[in-house]
Amino acid sequence: MENRENGSAAARPARAAAPAIIRTHNLCKNYYLGRNVVPALRNVNIEVARGEFVAVMGPSGSGKSTLMNLLGCLDRPTSGSYILDGIPVSQMSTNELADIRNQKIGFIFQGFNLLPRMTAQENVELPLVYSGIPSAERRQRATQALAMVGLSSRASHRPTELSGGQQQRVAIARALVTQPAIVLADEPTGSLDSHTSLEIMMILQRLNARGITVVLVTHDAGIASYCQRQIKFRDGMVIQDSMNQNQVMAREQLLQQNQQKKQVVL
Ligand code: ADP
Ligand code: MG
Repeated sequence: MENRENGSAAARPARAAAPAIIRTHNLCKNYYLGRNVVPALRNVNIEVARGEFVAVMGPSGSGKSTLMNLLGCLDRPTSGSYILDGIPVSQMSTNELADIRNQKIGFIFQGFNLLPRMTAQENVELPLVYSGIPSAERRQRATQALAMVGLSSRASHRPTELSGGQQQRVAIARALVTQPAIVLADEPTGSLDSHTSLEIMMILQRLNARGITVVLVTHDAGIASYCQRQIKFRDGMVIQDSMNQNQVMAREQLLQQNQQKKQVVL
């Protein structure tokens, strides 16, 4: 894992120096419903540098999830190109896409998508089972990933025995365990209360500080304020792409809130 906190990286402007991990050129996606064509994405040109923390914003139906599906190699564009970590993926077969996805992408969803019969530990190990990693190494890596999200003490709990925020933290650990190049999060706090959302944003900011690239979809300007850069969509097009000069640090907010309540922050 890359460390952005070393002197030379910190001295450089982050966007200019780091190589692009995501690069799209005139990316288009149409859905076909009978005779109707739904242009969900129209000529999207985006570059994301390694280590960025980007919010993708826009109203419902503006193409955010369609973009995430393409960036996450879950779907192919109708036209245009996508280069992921230097690899041109837009022309790949479904099987090739699945391989790239397993190697490069960690997903976090609004609904957590954990397997209910498995413990937190087993859920986190699952992506490593698919990659054929031996069980001792799986256990060790899942244990580390759970520690990174502050859930070591809940490893043997099943999802129903965990709160929504804890379940999302298990899902974050599962996204991290393969050491992906990018974490893609589609409305990760969409079904959580505001305090729990703040905790999730703190964890994502902490991972980002360790060099992990995060692209997060939200329609909530409050959530986007924790990101470094905001890309706004409307009708399948990018209408604004700007750095967030006032990135809010979730940990500081949590500390303030908890000082008032005399609680301890992780
Ligand atoms: P958002 O995530 O911003 O709400 P989506 O990417 O889900 O937007 O949708 C963009 C547009 O594409 C919308 O008009 C939506 O109705 C349409 N759309 C999304 N998925 C499909 C699909 N599988 N089939 C047909 N139309 C779709
Ligand atoms: Mg969506």
